[in-house]
Amino acid sequence: MTRTLTILGATGSIGASTLDLIRQSRDQWRVKALTANCQSAELARLAIEFGAELAVVGDESCLPELREALSGTGIAAAGGAQALCDAAATGADVTVAAIVGCAGLAPVMAAVEQGGTLALANKEALVSAGDILMDAVQRHGATLLPTDSEHNAIFQCLQGNAIEDVRWITLTASGGPFREWSHEQLSKATREQALKHPNWDMGAKITVDSATMFNKGLELIEAWHLFPVGLDRLRIVVHPQSVIHSMVEYRDGSTLAQLGPSDMRVPIASCLAWPQRMDTACKPLDLATIGTLSFFAPDEERFPATKLAREAAEAGGAAPAVLNAANEVAVAAFLAGQITFTQISAIVARTLDCALPPAPTSLAEVLAVDGEARQRARMMLEPA
Ligand code: NAD
Ligand code: MG
Repeated sequence: MTRTLTILGATGSIGASTLDLIRQSRDQWRVKALTANCQSAELARLAIEFGAELAVVGDESCLPELREALSGTGIAAAGGAQALCDAAATGADVTVAAIVGCAGLAPVMAAVEQGGTLALANKEALVSAGDILMDAVQRHGATLLPTDSEHNAIFQCLQGNAIEDVRWITLTASGGPFREWSHEQLSKATREQALKHPNWDMGAKITVDSATMFNKGLELIEAWHLFPVGLDRLRIVVHPQSVIHSMVEYRDGSTLAQLGPSDMRVPIASCLAWPQRMDTACKPLDLATIGTLSFFAPDEERFPATKLAREAAEAGGAAPAVLNAANEVAVAAFLAGQITFTQISAIVARTLDCALPPAPTSLAEVLAVDGEARQRARMMLEPA
């Protein structure tokens, strides 16, 4: 039986891993829509390879190039924010949400409203609009499958168990490239150093987030929405080998963990095939070669991000959206060479210190909170 698929953010790292899996089971999938921000040539190439019905660029100025690249292929081309939402709303059996940042939120919501299966990698959407998104999932009868490796691990460990029996959920964190760096060294960390993740090959934003530990902070908030055990049952442990992707401990003392190679094709495959399994070409886990698994408590002095995220979740309302927006602005500024590495968490903390807007109750209100928080964070980039 063939199923239909749409990938939001098809030209990125998650998009590429997803398409790699589809390439190996072409007869089982029909691609409806592929989207990107710009990268028209690459998007057109993928749309042609996979016989997509529609290709969409979020940045409308890239549409002429996309049209040109697709001319004569019969593949429809579109551009702009609304076109991204339309692509998400084509009613595919499975939609992979792999846009980076809050830019993916409106398309994610459009996909949820179709009531199909959403494989969610775009954690920022859930951080910014958690309650609203989870509510929409319920209302529209959508199936939300967590694709982020930790959340996918937890999702797998929860199968067949009652959520009431959970004692702890433990998210593992690699600790990133600066795990052992002093505060002094961190203040001088360069863009190139931050972009070298020890275990995972990912897009630039999440790679910087892994170095600051904001990735784990965002994931804490993500887990809080996905798995209703309460914030105080969510813990983080640093596990530099990234072999255990997360764990669930039950009240009888049993801990279930999911292990696998540091390859996003594993959790993506778990979403694509769910509730069944599919083959992947991923290198099997070789524990004897890995030899040692180690674990450390996170150091929130050097890496305040997880503490800021926990506080934002505790504050609730607009705070997580503000945290996410400020982080997106600060990471972009760091990547552009405007601020130092340690200023990223300082800017997020200062943005959260400003008076918070009222709790958003709709998608439009979340986007307004996001926009306002970006403005405030950008003002902090100006030299004092
Ligand atoms: P990436 O930067 O490699 O790709 C992002 C994709 O989104 C690209 O197709 C890009 O064109 C598109 N995009 C970017 N900005 C956009 C905008 N404003 N409008 C429309 N499209 C836009 O990112 P990635 O590493 O693939 O990550 C994607 C998401 O998945 C992120 O939320 C990330 O946190 C999450 N995630 C990634 C990994 C990973 O291994 N890469 C693991 C877990 C979770
Ligand atoms: Mg993750």
